[in-house]
Amino acid sequence: MTKLGMKRTEPGKNIKRTGGVKSPKIKQLDALWARIIKLRAGNICEMCGQTSKSRGMQAAHYMGRVFHSTRWELDNGACLCTSCHIVDIDNDSKLKEDFFRKRIGSDRQDELRTIAYKRFKPDKEKVLVQLKEKLRGLENATN
Ligand SMILES: [Zn+2]
Repeated sequence: MTKLGMKRTEPGKNIKRTGGVKSPKIKQLDALWARIIKLRAGNICEMCGQTSKSRGMQAAHYMGRVFHSTRWELDNGACLCTSCHIVDIDNDSKLKEDFFRKRIGSDRQDELRTIAYKRFKPDKEKVLVQLKEKLRGLENATN
């Protein structure tokens, strides 16, 4: 009992939270996806050309993470420094559109948008296998 007679929360007996908490599988896929995006770019910001030594790199989404159907598509991502990601691209939709058009072309942009809005839940196990394969390929190529 505490001074005020209130029950202390026992350690390890945390209230199970729902909503807004990422499942371990989603966390794993996000981490893998981000690693591939950054590795593919050689850890260089694909917008301003800065390297990770001077700025922290992030994997930015074209169609946002809220869309699970495109969340782990590799065409849907770019390696950006925090400044280009947060300051520029996330606050300027035209810049974002132009940037990704140059990278993947407007047809693929349309395609990603269509897939995103379908809002289906991808087979996470399948995505995991594909991403792991892609990462292995990239690691072999850079070693
Ligand atoms: Zn940058």
